[in-house]
Amino acid sequence: MQKVGLFWFNHDLRIDDNAALLRAAAEVDKLICLYCVDATSAGPRWQQPAKLAPRRREFLFQSLQDLEIQLNHYGQKLVVRMQPPLDAIAQLITVHNVSHLYRSNHVGVYENTIWQTLRKRYAMLEFTECHTHTLFAPSQLPFAIDQLPHSFSKFRRLVEKMDMTIALDAPLDAPTELPPPALVADLAWQPLWHKHFPPSDSPTALFKGGASAGEQHLKGYFASDLASTYKLTRNGLDGMDYSTKFSPWLANGTLSARRIVQQLQDYEARAGANDSTYWIFFELLWREYFQWYGHKHKQRLFAFEGIGDAAPTTSFYAERFKKWCAGNTPYAIINACMKQLNATGYLSNRGRQLVASCFVHELGLDWRHGAAYLEQQLIDYDVASNWGNWQYLAGVGADPRGHRRFDLQKQAQIYDPDNQFVRRWAGGQTLQPLDSVDAADWPI
Ligand SMILES: Cc1cc2nc3c(=O)[nH]c(=O)nc-3n(C[C@H](O)[C@H](O)[C@H](O)COP(=O)(O)OP(=O)(O)OC[C@H]3O[C@@H](n4cnc5c(N)ncnc54)[C@H](O)[C@@H]3O)c2cc1C
Repeated sequence: MQKVGLFWFNHDLRIDDNAALLRAAAEVDKLICLYCVDATSAGPRWQQPAKLAPRRREFLFQSLQDLEIQLNHYGQKLVVRMQPPLDAIAQLITVHNVSHLYRSNHVGVYENTIWQTLRKRYAMLEFTECHTHTLFAPSQLPFAIDQLPHSFSKFRRLVEKMDMTIALDAPLDAPTELPPPALVADLAWQPLWHKHFPPSDSPTALFKGGASAGEQHLKGYFASDLASTYKLTRNGLDGMDYSTKFSPWLANGTLSARRIVQQLQDYEARAGANDSTYWIFFELLWREYFQWYGHKHKQRLFAFEGIGDAAPTTSFYAERFKKWCAGNTPYAIINACMKQLNATGYLSNRGRQLVASCFVHELGLDWRHGAAYLEQQLIDYDVASNWGNWQYLAGVGADPRGHRRFDLQKQAQIYDPDNQFVRRWAGGQTLQPLDSVDAADWPI
């Protein structure tokens, strides 16, 4: 009997360094390559609309288009379903007699619930998942995931004690061939999925989605000498060169973290290692830490009290929230950041720290609403990095110092001394008071 595999693509939209896809290539006779665009997967949560913001949607569309082209080169097809994954996968299993299911391991609670439900419901099928999103697999880490250190520094020290030549696997090559698609007959409607993503090619888009664009960016970055000054420039607010800009492709897996480290090591061998090149690895370890943090804490990644047991004293004020989202706060630097985010789907790390600190400490808002807004907007949205960083800044996460409040005025002086960034994004033109009513609901 023929073995029919189903590969559920998620945040691994690439052929390169994809261990789960290689397993499928080696094990089954026919293969269905599936991606589900599920409107509800992006919400509704915390009063957010159940959709991806235009930039995020556009980036995803380009990533899927590129994956489709790459699969076509193998004689394969990408099946894109506008359906909740559980429904789509259940239908395909029944119609095509699927015997093997594959996916990359995911930190998302929602994605894992679906996978566990499928495992229970179809216990007679073979399930395979591989770690393709992280640098390490759990078995390579020097501790069990439930023993993950409470702070990043401890984590980093333990990881850096390992011999990287042994601990860090080289990225895997793309498969030489893939099994043919299982469902030629009902693919005629396939191009229809494109119409659910009106191509917008916005003039404010900074990034192009897809593994091809990601690879080009990676090569371009290390062909330049930017890596040698990264540590000095990484706190910039505007432009493409002050930081690596790997995050959009890393987030949906069109670029592999291990491939980046390989290129970084090649660069160091060629151009010399220094503090800056090390710091790129250091930041990738932050990403790694939050991935395992998410795996350890699961639902608590989204809890108001975070991984602690004391709920913050913040609350929800609709007017303040709306003003923050639109960039109409009393703080020009925050307005500039929010307008940049809304226009491009990207925000610098410094900008993210400032808007999150403002959200929690100046506006007194429940951090989860801010995290959910970034989830909707960021083209590099990554469940663990986003919610983990928000917890950290809200003082309910992995920060031994409690909470981080940034002095916005001082930060603007340091990082935007000439007011260039604020002017470019018109942050000073939409200054508004926080509230239009007082505590007793009287108009101010
Ligand atoms: C409130 C808040 C929300 C965030 N949400 C996300 C998110 O959804 N997705 C996301 O990828 N990053 C997130 N970050 C982390 C960080 O801001 C971005 O990874 C970084 O700005 C991306 O730009 P870059 O690729 O040029 O980063 P670089 O400075 O060039 O860093 C290189 C890589 O290291 C990783 N990295 C750097 N800083 C962090 C960090 N603090 N946490 C985790 N990984 C890091 C990223 O993968 C990044 O691509 C968030 C940070 C904050 C403060």
